[in-house]
Formats: sequence, C-alpha cells, structure tokens
Amino acid sequence: MKRALLWFRHDLRLDDHPALLRAAEAKEHLICLYCVEPRWFVADNWQCQRVGAHPWRFILEALSDLNQRLEALGQRLVVQVGDPLTVIPHLMRNHWIDKLIITAPFGEEERQQYLSLQHWLGPRRCEVHQAHTLFTLDQLPFALSDLPGTFSQFRKAVKGLDWRPIAPPVKSLPPPLPIGSHALPAATIEPNRHYHGGQSAGEAHLGHYFSSDAPKQYKLTRNALDDWESSTKLSPWLAQGCLSPRRVMAELEKYEAQHGANESTEWIGVELLWREYFQWTALAHGTRLFAFSGTAGVRRPTSFYPERFARWCQGQTPYPIVNASMRQLNCTGFLSNRARQLVASALVHELGMDWRYGAAYFQQQLIDHDVACNWGNWQYLAGVGADPRGWRHFDLEKQTELYDPERRFIRRWQGEAAAAMDSQDSVGWPVKA
Ligand SMILES: Cc1cc2nc3c(=O)[nH]c(=O)nc-3n(C[C@H](O)[C@H](O)[C@H](O)COP(=O)(O)OP(=O)(O)OC[C@H]3O[C@@H](n4cnc5c(N)ncnc54)[C@H](O)[C@@H]3O)c2cc1C
Repeated sequence: MKRALLWFRHDLRLDDHPALLRAAEAKEHLICLYCVEPRWFVADNWQCQRVGAHPWRFILEALSDLNQRLEALGQRLVVQVGDPLTVIPHLMRNHWIDKLIITAPFGEEERQQYLSLQHWLGPRRCEVHQAHTLFTLDQLPFALSDLPGTFSQFRKAVKGLDWRPIAPPVKSLPPPLPIGSHALPAATIEPNRHYHGGQSAGEAHLGHYFSSDAPKQYKLTRNALDDWESSTKLSPWLAQGCLSPRRVMAELEKYEAQHGANESTEWIGVELLWREYFQWTALAHGTRLFAFSGTAGVRRPTSFYPERFARWCQGQTPYPIVNASMRQLNCTGFLSNRARQLVASALVHELGMDWRYGAAYFQQQLIDHDVACNWGNWQYLAGVGADPRGWRHFDLEKQTELYDPERRFIRRWQGEAAAAMDSQDSVGWPVKA
C-alpha cells in the first residue's frame, strides 16, 4: 500500500485506533479526512436537523484537537464539506490512492455509504477495522442474526468475554498530500464549561473521574437529575469516538484493582454493556431502528401533533419536570438518563406522539448523540424495541417526588413557570388519566 485515505467519523482520536495503525503502514502518503455533510444541517422528515448547535460545537472542538494531535505526528486533518460519496472518489482518483480505511460504522446510513464506496472501489481497496465497541464481531459468541432479543440475555452471553487488546499507540505517520480544507460553519454557541470536544478533554475527564471517589457511589447516584459527579458523563466523548470504550473499561478495571470493586463500579461496566448491546442491535436491525413499529414490529396507538411537539421541544407542557428537563437539554445539549426517560415517556404516553419525533429532536440537541444508543433507547421506552416489559409509562408526579422532592431541579430550569404559562392557553392537551 503506497497511498491511503483514512476517513474519520465517530473515531476522533489517535488512541486505540486500529484503522489509524493500519493507515500508518502506507509507504508514501496518507490523507486523514473528515467529511462534513451539508444534509446534517437541513430539517429531515421529523422536522429536525441531524446536527444541532450543541453537538456541532462539540464536533468542531474535537476536530481541532484531532488536527493538533495529527500535526504532532507530521500529519494534518483535511476537512471537506460535501457528500462523502462524491468527496472520497474525487480525492482517491486525483491523488492515486490505493486504499480507503475506516472504523466500522454501526448506523445504517453510514454503513450504506461505506458499502457504496466499496462497490465503487472493489473490496480489495477498502478496509474496515473495529473500534467503536468493546468486542469485535468475530469475538461475539453468536452470529449477528442470532443477537439475543433482550439485554439480560446478551449480558449473560458475553459474560467473561475478553474485550482486549487495546491497539498500541501510533508512533509515526506517512506525510500528508497538499490538499486544502474547507471553511466550516462557525459554532453559534459558547463553549461549555464541562463538555469540551476532543481526545485531550476526554482523557482529562476520564482521569479526573477515576481519581475521585465518585465511581464508588455510582449506583446510588446515577439517577440524579442534575449533578456533575452523579454519573461518569463520558457519553459525549464516547459518542464522537474521542475515547474508545476499551480505554474506559481499562480505566475502570485499573480503578477496581487499586480501590476495590463494589456494586457501583460493577454497574459502570453494566452500563457500558448497554451501550454495547445497542450498537449490535443497530447493526443487526439496520433500517428497523428508525421504523415506527421498531425492531419488535409492534404498532402503538400514537400519532403526530405539531403544536404538542413544538411545546414539548420548548419545555412548555403542563408537566414541570418535563419542562425543566427540556430546558436543560436546550440550554446545555445534555440530559441525565433519568430525565431522558421521563421526557420520552411523556412524549409517547402523555402527548400520544410518534416516538420518532422525540428521537429526532434528541439527535439534533444531544452532544452525546449516538445513533444506536439514542434510537435504541427510544424504541425501548416506546415499547417497540428490546424491552421484555414493553410500553414503559412513568408516573411523572411520583418520579418528581422520588428524584426532585424539593423541586430544586424544576426551579433551576423554571419548569413550573413554563407549566403555568402553558395552562393559560389552549393547545388542547390530552386530559390526564
Ligand atoms: C431516550 C434516551 C435517549 C438516549 N440517547 C443516548 C444517546 O444519544 N447517546 C448516548 O450515549 N446515550 C444515550 N442514552 C443513554 C444514557 O441516557 C446516556 O448514555 C447517559 O445518560 C450518559 O451519561 P453518562 O455518560 O454520565 O452515563 P453513565 O451512567 O455514567 O454510564 C456510563 C456509560 O454507559 C453508557 N450508557 C449508560 N446508560 C446507557 C443506556 N441506557 N443505553 C446505552 N448506553 C448507556 C454510556 O456510554 C455512558 O457514557 C439515551 C437514553 C434514553 C433514555
């Protein structure tokens, strides 16, 4: 292999990166490419953009960090705006590139893009390496078509499987080619104090979290609505691939070896397995991840109500806990797992909405948007996915008593004020059961 093109997507790091290691073997030149697709910023069938202002800021930061790391190895990141199916063939033809190398995608659209490129180039000029999950496909003790139908079966099946090895660090890279980057749309929001995109910030946060006492309390605190140390907060870096799940698992094991394991530290591993399960589910089910009847093929009596949807997005419903959560999401691009469950349940059960509008809005807003985790969790809550209990309806008042008994979270994000404002108008909210 003389010249290679490494297409970065959700693997914006140099650490634990088998595709990069392979690309480093190119004898003459390497192009490190990131494609920004114009369609990410256009409203889709569900009236939302693929990438909203919060995730876009995080991605820009991650790209800048990646470029700095590549420059330290004599390389640089080429960022081009356009459809990868046009950009990549053009670069490969014009620069005599032998091989396209990527990290295996789990989302259906990304997979289809890769398959189209493979069709055009021929299989011998394309290479896929796995690094978005703990396990590789051939490590799984079942064929993908036999993926267990529930998380508990999956967890049992992969118990004891070794997720190692972590890929060794890349020491040098072939030189770049003289290819320019395009100007990118600037971030429209201020940097976030906690969440800065990129491997450097991700590693700093990982190190900080596992040098604190927080992992020992994780199982007791993980349901908190609004507290920085209550859960790991690693998801944004995992979603953009600034951190690899194997690196996180290695840090968890190191922590357990030094400080002892308990139920809480073990539970962090269980949550990483949830992430893993949703990735393989997405791969196994393809387009069914976005289907109204889900992977379970169940049709639920929901529909689309434009006014209700708009109010849910803005945090102006009759439900203070939902309003507070949606306002936090809109302001920060992040939401705790508990709050995600509550607003999703409210959209489906209280407002009678097609779950996919909620998933699409999350996709636009979340800095940790991950196609498999987001759409898989929405399916789960909407009763059309991998949930043996189906159709989960949270009692919002009881949940408020449990997780926000003093209404601090609601006050902080002005959930009551929004609910009061709303009760004065006539959206035609469904009557409470
Ligand atoms: C409706 C809905 C949508 C969601 N959308 C996303 C999404 O787009 N991206 C995303 O990463 N997570 C998503 N989740 C899962 C979960 O809410 C977040 O991973 C978690 O809140 C992130 O915070 P944390 O890193 O502190 O998680 P922790 O509680 O510290 O968990 C550690 C890691 O385990 C993984 N994890 C935890 N819970 C889940 C879960 N339920 N499903 C899959 N992986 C999990 C994440 O990678 C997380 O970073 C969604 C959950 C719901 C209910």
